[in-house]
Amino acid sequence: MNYRAVKGMNDILPDEIERWHQLEATFRQIVERYRYAETRTPILEHTELFVRSIGETTDVVEKEMFTFERSKESLSMRPEGTAGAARAYVEHKVHAREPVSRWYYAGPMFRAERPQRGRYRQFYQAGCELYGDPGPVCDAEMIDMLVAFFSELGIPEVQVRVNSIGGPDARAAYRTALLEFLRPRAGELSEHARARLEANPLRVLDSKDPRDQAAVADAPSILDLLPPADRQHWDQLRRGLDALGTPYEVQPGLVRGLDYYSRTLFEINASTGELGAQNTLVGGGRYDGMIRSLGGPDVPAIGFAMGLERILLAMSDSTPQASRFCFLAPIGEQAQTAALKLARDLRSAGVTVDLDGRGNSLKSMLRRADATRARICLVLGESELEQGVVQLKDLAAHEQRNVPLAAVVAAVSEALRSASGSEVGA
Ligand code: ATP
Ligand code: MG
Repeated sequence: MNYRAVKGMNDILPDEIERWHQLEATFRQIVERYRYAETRTPILEHTELFVRSIGETTDVVEKEMFTFERSKESLSMRPEGTAGAARAYVEHKVHAREPVSRWYYAGPMFRAERPQRGRYRQFYQAGCELYGDPGPVCDAEMIDMLVAFFSELGIPEVQVRVNSIGGPDARAAYRTALLEFLRPRAGELSEHARARLEANPLRVLDSKDPRDQAAVADAPSILDLLPPADRQHWDQLRRGLDALGTPYEVQPGLVRGLDYYSRTLFEINASTGELGAQNTLVGGGRYDGMIRSLGGPDVPAIGFAMGLERILLAMSDSTPQASRFCFLAPIGEQAQTAALKLARDLRSAGVTVDLDGRGNSLKSMLRRADATRARICLVLGESELEQGVVQLKDLAAHEQRNVPLAAVVAAVSEALRSASGSEVGA
């Protein structure tokens, strides 16, 4: 029997994890600078929460959820993070504690999609949710924060697309206009779009089917139907982005078909690195009606979610640099025993240590030290130990010297501290 991971679900092994840590650390660092704080909600929620918040006629709810029954309850693995966060916000009455809350999350999401590059059944998202601020200032700030994040990651060439879908009135008017436009063209639509045309015509704009895309190419723009208050929000968002110098494109076809989405929508795409057709890195928008629709108070909200695998695909591989750790190469049993204690002393002083206890030749241990990208290698030979010294090799600077045993911890700490051009490891 050969065991294999479940289709569309990937292992992340130690040789890849450094890039994940770097990405996650950069995300945390940037969003915390904007005063977002982390929340962790369960992987499982009641199915009804996702149906209610994501919407019955969406791909995610129609066919992508991992759902099962347990003790007569229908539970689903979370396909995204917004629903759980909003549920927690309402359940804990967070609005009563503070008028504005900024939350972020990062973790695995689950969707039963056809696996391909950039599209998996377990994938990771990081996202932010901002509750309680209806203003276009925070919409502009959120979009600009994302652009700063990608530039920090070394993906400066992102395309930001923004749109406004107004409030419920604008959307009702648009729905009618779009239906009038699409009904005579129903024959040209995909079967799926045709079937849900009356229920949710806005979703046709979002379809990836070329027939649907062709049919909506000349569809009316919702931006032409915005009433004054929505128009003002939209104009102020754009003035904010212009003032910040944040590049963006207006894309009137960018929509979400659900009632509680409102006004600002945005998406960030890239075409760098190994990204293929799945090149949307971030999807976000304002959903002023959601908290209320989940039984909470009337609290406006805006948020986004990004796919971490896709971002890693978009990041070019940086050449690995020497890491700040110390490799211990003892020769012979006596030296191995001495190395045990030296390794412990070094770790107590905060140094990361890899002790090679295999009893191999010096040559093979040095090869291993190079392969692990150690910055320092300590060679403990029998004759050196008799003299009370160890050999300290600086593998990046290609220098070596003997150091008295009693001074080794200080010497290694100093050498790692002053190591330039190496990434911050442990
Ligand atoms: P797509 O149009 O690519 O299917 P979506 O509209 O379903 O995306 P959202 O629900 O808005 O995506 O999720 C936000 C982000 O999460 C996406 O932009 C993408 O980066 C990532 N994402 C979504 N689904 C997957 C998946 N199955 N595998 C990997 N990443 C995903
Ligand atoms: Mg999808």
